[in-house]
Amino acid sequence: MYRLLDCITQQHHYGLVAVAAFICVIGSVLSVHMSARLTEWTGKRRLVQLPLAGLITGATIWSTHFIAMLAYEPGYDHAYEPVLTGLSLLVGVLGALTANAGLAFARGPAAPLMAGAIFGMTVSAMHYTGMKAYLLPGTILWSGGTVIVSVIIGAGLGAASYGLITRRMGGIAGRAWPALVMVLAICLMHFTGMSAIDIWLDSSIVVPPKTISETAMALLIFGVTGIILMIAMASASIEVNMEGETRTQLSHAALHDPLTGMPNRMWLNRKLEALKVQLQQDETTRVAIMTVDLNLFKEVNDLYGHAIGDAVLTRVALRLEALQGANEHVARVGGDEFVAIKTGFRRIEEIHAFAERLHASIIEPIDLDDVSLRVGASIGIATSLEDGRIPEELLHKSDVAMYRAKSEPDLPICLFNEEMDRRSRDKTQMVHDLRLALQHNEFELVYQLQNALDTLAPVGFEVLLRWNHPTRGRVSPVEFIPVAEETGLIRDIGRWVLREACREAAGWDHPYSIAVNVAPQQLVQPSFIEDVMDILMESGLDSARLELEITEASIIDDQAHTLKVMHKLKALGIRIAMDDFGTGYSSLAMLQTFPFDKIKIDRSFVQDVHKDAQRAAIVRSTLLLGAALQIPVLAEGVEVEDELSFLKNERCTSVQGYYFGRPMSRDDMRLIACASKDGKKESAA
Ligand code: C2E
Ligand code: CA
Ligand code: CA
Repeated sequence: MYRLLDCITQQHHYGLVAVAAFICVIGSVLSVHMSARLTEWTGKRRLVQLPLAGLITGATIWSTHFIAMLAYEPGYDHAYEPVLTGLSLLVGVLGALTANAGLAFARGPAAPLMAGAIFGMTVSAMHYTGMKAYLLPGTILWSGGTVIVSVIIGAGLGAASYGLITRRMGGIAGRAWPALVMVLAICLMHFTGMSAIDIWLDSSIVVPPKTISETAMALLIFGVTGIILMIAMASASIEVNMEGETRTQLSHAALHDPLTGMPNRMWLNRKLEALKVQLQQDETTRVAIMTVDLNLFKEVNDLYGHAIGDAVLTRVALRLEALQGANEHVARVGGDEFVAIKTGFRRIEEIHAFAERLHASIIEPIDLDDVSLRVGASIGIATSLEDGRIPEELLHKSDVAMYRAKSEPDLPICLFNEEMDRRSRDKTQMVHDLRLALQHNEFELVYQLQNALDTLAPVGFEVLLRWNHPTRGRVSPVEFIPVAEETGLIRDIGRWVLREACREAAGWDHPYSIAVNVAPQQLVQPSFIEDVMDILMESGLDSARLELEITEASIIDDQAHTLKVMHKLKALGIRIAMDDFGTGYSSLAMLQTFPFDKIKIDRSFVQDVHKDAQRAAIVRSTLLLGAALQIPVLAEGVEVEDELSFLKNERCTSVQGYYFGRPMSRDDMRLIACASKDGKKESAA
């Protein structure tokens, strides 16, 4: 130990020792960085990295040793034999290459330690080869024990350094600790090795004269190694930067929508998390959340195709992005759904203004290459001023408000209130109850007369569904049918209605027809035709007595399919009526394409038809149309004598309405349908 300290403190040129130390530290950090990459990368990148890492590590060891040697001032003439000096560099580089290859490719828990030991022994091998090149006027006496100790120190610390590299500590520590141990490995090995020598001076041995001074040589090595290290440093820094950029790009991609480039739902979730913290920590924080949903976007997609749909979304996104001010953000969170956030406002009016701006920008005409379109938007707003301080809750409430806005065509922007919440909860409850209604036998059919207009005699009944809710009492179909359609429950419910109606009608004495409403979703069900056939079969009802009422909505979604289904139904002998005629978009076109057996004029045109010239014109032209196409027309909603007379004059075929009776219970209906033909009343089985 004394010799070691003595060696370091007494016999060295401090300036050069500092240079050696500098090279050693920088070189070790780079070496560790590059070696670590070898364990992180695979494939081609790793293969390219391997020789580079070997060169850097080898050059570091060698130049540290050599400059330290030049710093060694023994007080007599000395020199370096060039071939062996060069060889020592080769030993350093090849040894480091071997160690790094081991680190990169060898498997098993001991592999990094072995590789590190090889690195340490390379330091020794290089050191002692370098010492062989040392020429002096005398001979060197080696202390074998110290040499062995120096080799063990190098190998041990080398193994420790490589072991630390594979620990992957991350951050600066992941590089700093292994680099520090590597510096220790190189320096302690070197100085222990230097303390293993004793010089026996012998003036008969002649040292060749120096061509350049020690300092100049040290600076030369320093310069060359410095350049190598600088290149390595530059490449490492480029690579780290690029990695950082890639990471930034990846995280951008994860948080943004590829179509519009807008922030996406993931971004929104993070934003909400951040806002949650802010709202908790700072009472003055204010947040408004708006759900923005485009209206009729599905129709744009259906009518013009997805490419146009995408173009519309992109255009809308551009506008929304352009109008964002400070503290305003808009994210696209679903197909045609956006969420806007505004913070740092003072009054609710600012929120309204923002919502107005959003709305106005969306409804501007969108001019594309071939078409010019307009889409609407419904916006729901919830704010931390009134609706709570939990962002997820605000989002939910803004959603509820948006649905409210959707259901009211004149109210594109809706501020959340508790009433809405109650409604939305009511709806959830209704969906829940509706699911159980069939099992619990809560449905009932009522029957409304349909009468011929010339004789006023009954010709059939339309069945209308009623729901007897255990606590709410009778629920109107106007309330629950839309919910049943939304949830798909209408399929099972509709099948039940059809079965009950057919079973009932099959038992009547009079062969009145029975009209059953069929929802759009029933019609597109693949099993629909089969279901109808089964029901006819099991009920034994003559198919000619069954009339299915469908609305335009059934047809619009998939016209080709509907046409096929209609033909199949007609082939079975079933008649098909077009319900609510006149209320849709293209009732006329529908009549031309689809083989309807009856037109039912909607009651909105029949009501007050004798007083209202416009309605009269509509009803008249519908009747003319029916006559021209030879399709019988039924007028719905006849309530008063005058309406009836008008229809009679215009030669309507049949009528239905309160004038003849409200929808009646089964028992009441049976009084009519089951009265035996000789006039005696019977009750049906
Ligand atoms: P809808 O098919 O147009 O049925 C006619 C509606 O008009 C019935 O209302 C009926 O009670 C009512 N109505 C009949 N005559 C008059 C009248 O003179 N004046 C007035 N103001 N109203 C009259 P309801 O029973 O409330 O049914 C409403 C709607 O619910 C039906 O309209 C139909 O779209 C749907 N619906 C009813 N039952 C079913 C069903 O079993 N399946 C399906 N899918 N929908 C059904
Ligand atoms: Ca109907
Ligand atoms: Ca109708």
